[in-house]
Amino acid sequence: MKAIMITGASRGIGAATAMLAAERGFSVAVNYNKSKEEAEKVVEAIKQKGGHAKAIQADVSKESDVIRLFEEVDVEFGSLTSLVNNAGTLEDQCRLENITAQRWHRIFDANTLSVFLCCREAIKRLSSKYGGSGGTIVNVSSIASRTGAPFEYIDYAASKGAVDSLTIGLAKELADENIRVNAVRPAFIHTDIHLTGGEPNRIERIRETIPLKRGGLSSEVAEAILWLATEKSSYSTGIFIDVSGGR
Ligand code: NAP
Repeated sequence: MKAIMITGASRGIGAATAMLAAERGFSVAVNYNKSKEEAEKVVEAIKQKGGHAKAIQADVSKESDVIRLFEEVDVEFGSLTSLVNNAGTLEDQCRLENITAQRWHRIFDANTLSVFLCCREAIKRLSSKYGGSGGTIVNVSSIASRTGAPFEYIDYAASKGAVDSLTIGLAKELADENIRVNAVRPAFIHTDIHLTGGEPNRIERIRETIPLKRGGLSSEVAEAILWLATEKSSYSTGIFIDVSGGR
């Protein structure tokens, strides 16, 4: 049985990816940090369709939590096939001179340190170098990594830029160990993250600047993630799929 671990799968893109992964035959580890009830709902929905899933709490910006998370996945699912580094956050829109050092650390811990920690633990389990059967890692970045998100959240954009660099380097480092590493770069997807950034109607404000003239759905991002997580993308590593309405 294939097993996939999706960080931040209680809501938004992560939850949609968990549902689609279950439909495609994966057992699903549904990681969440604070939204226990939402995570349990995702698990229930998967179980009702005959799938296998478990919600596991862990703050993926904390090393000890990530180590425990992977140990719990080992016990519940046996060997892992795929990791999706989806958990991420941002804070109120502002210019760079108004960002505190504490906020910079929070954003980089949540969006970048978390990806490093989860990749590290996954490599120990997946890599042929350590007796693993190989697998896939999909990082959820953002097109903010190439736009820089001026006047909104340069800290967030920079944290995703680091995820892009990690994706490129790690893809090459692991290419000979049967692990492919790729990334999806969404933008303007209808989820709670815009509320977290202080502007719930952000997509409506910028809709006319998006070539496809609409926001995207979490399910549209999930399709790209699942393509990269499965054998369908077998000849791709170190690539980026932008799911951003043409921007
Ligand atoms: P969302 O609806 O706000 O959901 C964020 C998810 O991340 C939640 O499940 C949350 O879990 C989890 N999370 C946050 N910090 C965490 C931590 N420290 N440990 C564990 N889980 C954590 O956001 P979304 O829009 O689906 O975003 C998913 C990913 O897509 C993020 O990486 C985001 O940067 C990226 N993205 C989104 C957009 C967009 O337009 N929506 C655009 C570009 C990139 P709890 O609620 O349980 O705490």
